[in-house]
Parts: sequence; C-alpha cells; structure tokens
Amino acid sequence: MMKKLFVPVLLLIPVMIASGQNTTFKSRTKYPSGTRKPGFEFVTVNPDGISKSGTSGKSATAPSLERLLLKGGLQQVDKVIRSNGKPVYIERKTNPSKSDPDSSPAEKLSRFLEETRMISGTINPKEQFAVSQINEDRNGITHLKTIQRYRGIDIYGSEATFHLSAQKERFMGLFHNIENEINTVPIISSSSAITTVNSDLRLKTVVRELTANEKKLLKYQSPETRLVIYNTEGNAYSLAWEITFRPNVVEVWKYFIDAETGSIIHSFNATRAYEYFLQTHGLNSINGNGGNIISFINVAEDDGSSMENAFWNGQAVFYGNGGGYFKPLAGALDVTAHELGHGVVSNTANLEYYGQPGAINETYADIFGSMVDRDDWLIGEDITRTTFSPSGALRNMADPHNMGREGDHYWQPKHVSEMYLGKEDNAGVHINNGIGIHAYYLYATAVSKDKAEQVFFHALVHYLTKTSRFIDFRIAVIQSTSDLFGEGSSETTEAAKAFDAVGIYEEEVVQKNQDYEVNPGTEFLLFCNTDPNYSTTLALYNGSQASSLSETAMKNNPSVTDNGAEAVFVSADSKIRYISLNPIEPEQIISDQEYWDNVAISKDGNRLAAISTQVDTSIYVYDFTSRKWAKFRLYNPTTSHFNTDAGGVLYADAIEFDITGEYLIYDACNILSSNVTEDIYYWDIGIINVWDKTGRKFGDGSIFKLYGSLPENVSIGNPTFSQNSSAIIAFDYIDGNSGEYAILGTNLNTGETDVITENSTLGLPSFSK
Ligand SMILES: [Zn+2]
Repeated sequence: MMKKLFVPVLLLIPVMIASGQNTTFKSRTKYPSGTRKPGFEFVTVNPDGISKSGTSGKSATAPSLERLLLKGGLQQVDKVIRSNGKPVYIERKTNPSKSDPDSSPAEKLSRFLEETRMISGTINPKEQFAVSQINEDRNGITHLKTIQRYRGIDIYGSEATFHLSAQKERFMGLFHNIENEINTVPIISSSSAITTVNSDLRLKTVVRELTANEKKLLKYQSPETRLVIYNTEGNAYSLAWEITFRPNVVEVWKYFIDAETGSIIHSFNATRAYEYFLQTHGLNSINGNGGNIISFINVAEDDGSSMENAFWNGQAVFYGNGGGYFKPLAGALDVTAHELGHGVVSNTANLEYYGQPGAINETYADIFGSMVDRDDWLIGEDITRTTFSPSGALRNMADPHNMGREGDHYWQPKHVSEMYLGKEDNAGVHINNGIGIHAYYLYATAVSKDKAEQVFFHALVHYLTKTSRFIDFRIAVIQSTSDLFGEGSSETTEAAKAFDAVGIYEEEVVQKNQDYEVNPGTEFLLFCNTDPNYSTTLALYNGSQASSLSETAMKNNPSVTDNGAEAVFVSADSKIRYISLNPIEPEQIISDQEYWDNVAISKDGNRLAAISTQVDTSIYVYDFTSRKWAKFRLYNPTTSHFNTDAGGVLYADAIEFDITGEYLIYDACNILSSNVTEDIYYWDIGIINVWDKTGRKFGDGSIFKLYGSLPENVSIGNPTFSQNSSAIIAFDYIDGNSGEYAILGTNLNTGETDVITENSTLGLPSFSK
C-alpha cells in the first residue's frame, strides 16, 4: 500500500548549471549544491563520502572499446562452483594493483569477501567472518580457516577456508545468509538442555557417572555446552545449545537443543566406534563396571565376552580381542592405522561423524590404514575371518562391493548413484565410505601411492572442514593437486577423473548465474509518449487495446514493480507520482515537493529511490514500512584502500533496484579537476548497498564501481538489470574520441563484458523480461 509522503514545498529561485562538457552522452540541468533543501527528515549514510574534486588522476590510456573491455569489473572472478544453487567455491586472480602488499591475510580475506559479495550474497562480511587459523605451506600458499558468525555467535558448521597465493585467491565453503531474525539470548538454560539430553540418552544407551579416574583419562568433567546458530533446514536457523555428552567411558554424543523451545533439533553418536559390526550386531555399550576399560586394550563387551571391535573414542584407541569374526584387532596394522587415522582427522579437518562428512572421515581412516599396510587395497584382511565376509577382508578399496550385494553388511557403494540415504550408521558413515576409498584407489593407481597420499593429506589439513561434503572433497583434492604439482598438471587431471568415476562431479559448473523465474500473468506493454501532439503520456496496451493512464508530462520513464501492479515517475513539475496499474486507479502525488529528477521503485514495491534536482552527490531512499528516508552519499571507492573516497562524484541520474531490493545500480556524472587543462567530466556506473534484508534496515551505503577507472573521454551510463538475473546488466558506452557508441552487457559474477550491439546513437537499453 502506497502512502502519501507529505513534504512541504520550499520556493527557491533555480539557478541552472550545465552538467559538463560531455553533453553528447547525457544532458541534465541541475541546481547547484545547497541551493535547495529537501524539507523532510532523513538519516545520512556515508556522511564522509562527499568530496569536492577528483583525486584519482587523469587516465593516460588511449580510449578504445577493447581497452575498456579488458579492464574488467570489480566483481571479476574466474570460477564459481555451485552446489544446490549455492556457491561453494569462488576463485579469482590475485591482482597486485588491487591488493595492498602490506595488508594482512585477514585483510585480504575481508576485501575478497567484500568484492565478491554479489556472488555470495553476504552482507557486512567484515562483521560476519572471523579467522580462526592461518598457516603457510611449503609452497608459499597461505591457508586461512574462517568461521562465520551471527551477531557474534558461531554458526555451527560454517567453517570455510581461504587460500592466498601470488596468482590466485580462493574461497571454499558455504555462505550462510540468514534471513530470519534470531534472538541471541537463550530462553532455555544450558543446565535444562543438559537434563533433556540426559533423559534422551537413557533411552538409547547406558548413562552412568564416570569415576574420577575415567574423567581424568578422558579429560572430561561434565557435559560441554556452547551457544551456536544452527541451520535447521533450508534457510531456517535457530539459536541452539551444542552439547557434547559422554554417557559412559566409550561413547561421545552430540546434541543440538533449540535454545528457545528446548526441543531436540539433532543428535548423533559422535563415537567413532563399532566400525565393523554395525550392520550385523546391535549396538552395545561397554561393561559398566570398568574391568579392563582403563587399559584401553582387551576391551570386553557388556556380558564379558570378547569385543569384536576397535575404535577411537576421541581420546584413545580401544581394541577388542576379536572372536568368531575377528582375530585380536590390535594385531592388524591397517586397523591400528585406521583408528589412529581418526585421531589425525580429529586434529585437522575434524570432520563431523555424521552423513557425508562422516563418510569422508571414514575414508581418511582407511587411507591411513592402506598407506601403512601398503601391499594391497584390503582393510582388515589380517584379522577378518571368512565368517564375516567371503573376501576375508572388512573392506576392499579396489572393489567396495567386496564380493557382496547391496544390503550385505560387508558391501559398500562405489558410486554416488549407489549411495545409502538412510539414517542408520550415523547416516551411512561406514557405508558411503566406499565411494571415497574407491576414488582414492583410482587416483593412487593412476598417479602412484606416494603422490596420492601427499595430495589427500594436503586436502585434509588445508581444505576440508567439519561439514565438508563430497563436492567439497573433490574441490579440496583438486586444489591440493594444483598446490603441489601445478595447475593443469596430470595429477590434477587424474584427480578429476577419479572423482568423476565415482560420481562426484562439479554439480553446477562455473560461472552459471542464478536466474529468476519468469513472472507469471498477463503481459502488458507500458507506453510512454513524448510526442507533444498527444495528450496521453502513459498508456497500457494489453495486446488489443490501449488505455490511457496519464496525461501528466514526465521527466523520466516510469519505474514498475516486479508484479507490474505499481509504477512511479517524476512529473515535469519535479514531484513524485504513483500509479496503480492493477487495478488501474487515478494517479496520486506521493511527494509533492518539487525536488526530484528521477525515481525508482523496488521490485517488491517496498522502497523508493530518488535523485534530487541539485548537485548534492546523493541518492535518497524511502522505506514505506518504517516511513523513513535515508540519504546516501555517493563516492568513488579507490582501488588501494577499501571503500575510501577518490572524490569526483557530482550527481547520479539513472537508478534501478536489483531484484533483491538491497542494491541500486546507478550512473553518475563525475568531474576530474585539473590545474593543467579544463576539468573533465565523465559518466560511470556504480552499485550501492541501500538495504539490509537481514537487519531490515537501510544498507551501509558501500559502493562497487563497475569499472575501477575509465579511459579518458569514455563514459558509460543508463544501466539496467536483466529482469531475471541480478548479475546481468546492460549499459550504454560512448567513446568521445572515436565517436563509438555501443550497448554492453556485463555479468557481475564473472566480470565478463561483451558488446550487445554497436550503435550510432545511444541505446538506452532495457530488458523486456
Ligand atoms: Zn573408522
């Protein structure tokens, strides 16, 4: 619902100034700065963003279309890999002119996140991302581990990695863009959450008080709690207590309790136990009376019988003495290495023992096992009796089917198409492990065991995180091959082949942008008429007949909401007018102050952006919900420091919201002052953050420029977003020296720019749908 904006009219004598010499591109008359007052309340964003004269210096480059195309945009990236539509990998070239050599790795991360946020969708990345670890590898690549936070609270499983080399900057991990408001003060206390866990565990296993000795051995006093933001499903997030609970000396459980409702969101057995028997035997807890437990060897079952198992419980390795199925388990080199391998994983990527990360954890344990016991691809062949499996091995990396059929307890999938999707076995950690070990086998067979173990270990230490999935596993291994053997090496090609062979692909490859659905409904054409012989200035054509909407003289084309129901425009008397198109209602004046040159409405109709009639270096944004104005100061970000002012902006002209309503694209007239020659005027294009969806407040006013600098006498303007992708824009290009005109298209995600058409005049491009 549109509300009328009451703004008192101030009468001032207009003094017109020319907008500059580049009048072939645009001519707009403006009142000088400070000669007119808006007469309404507004908050000022970027108050320091204003500057009188250009300091960025004159470009010495000879102007030409090719030169402009080569310059690339701020958003330029070389590769984006998405999974389920979300970016999981972003890569771009390390640009020495862009990156201050003195800036720290953390500052470089910050700049990277800021400059790629149109891809990741993050707002205020500086506040959201914290660096938890930095280390440099032997090849001089700096690896950072990051964690994402919401109002200072860790988002569970948001660990990601950032990698800096002289050539590339790479970010790996999911971005959590939280849209719902989350109360960060828990309603449920941690002790009440522990009580919930305690009663739930009693239904599942033996819960007993640990002895003082056991506590000392396990370095555990009581359940560990911390507050996290937990991604419950899809885009829903809740405040939760993460609780690590040891019900007995063997098991470790992980629970997530909703801190608002007290309900159990998720729980799993985090003990890396019962490796071999899970499918054939029910879970057993260990003898509650202690017995041999403290020695951590000769571990017995509840009934005192020999335990046919070995496991790592987070603190130490436990071995049973075997029985009908196994010989004493400590006797097998690969089983020992497997269990110790879990220890290595705990101290590196710390892959969560559930689902895909859990299966990768198991894969690494088997890789350690097979590398220590290197003469074959079997696991546990020295301790497994044929009563357990016909092959006489627990698992076979060369053929995970292990002479069995799907459902047999010794059978494993060797391709994603055979993947187990159920909840048993911590969602298949020992089952889907088959896919990873087979990929490793294929790779090691192709490039040698020596190389394969180096590559996979590098991936574990530097690239994988707690919640890495199969796609991340693939990316991590491939990145590691480039780190160790160089990009495009045969080691890289073979890694890609190995993952392809097990069905782990780059699901949506490279530089494919998110497209939006085409709007449903009837198509109408909105006509603007500038012929003074007709009284109708705006008409709606439904395919057979046109109905007149307005006879008001307009300064600009109207801006229409995404559903086509509402439009706004600035009339010749500089007021903002509103028209309801569906149903058609008489137009109304919503800002009756004669203060405006242009206006745009957001796609959802919730906000307006407007440009005043004077040179005030600002864009005004009105939010219909809060009924507030904000004034955003325009500035030219420099390339050496982030978001600082290079001066030179005079005023904006064309404005348009992107589909999210968070960003405005605009063109602006700039001045380069010179004490040698005449001042130079040029137009360029910027994107400004005007709305923060998460915080439901005005944006921080930060600005990206489509091009860091333009060649002399080159201007670009009249930008417009594609109707179904925020990443594609089109704009006019003019080269004042050669007289070339063109409409260019740019993909903001990749920085790719191309000529759409070459013109002899300005195109004023617009996307039809
Ligand atoms: Zn294991």
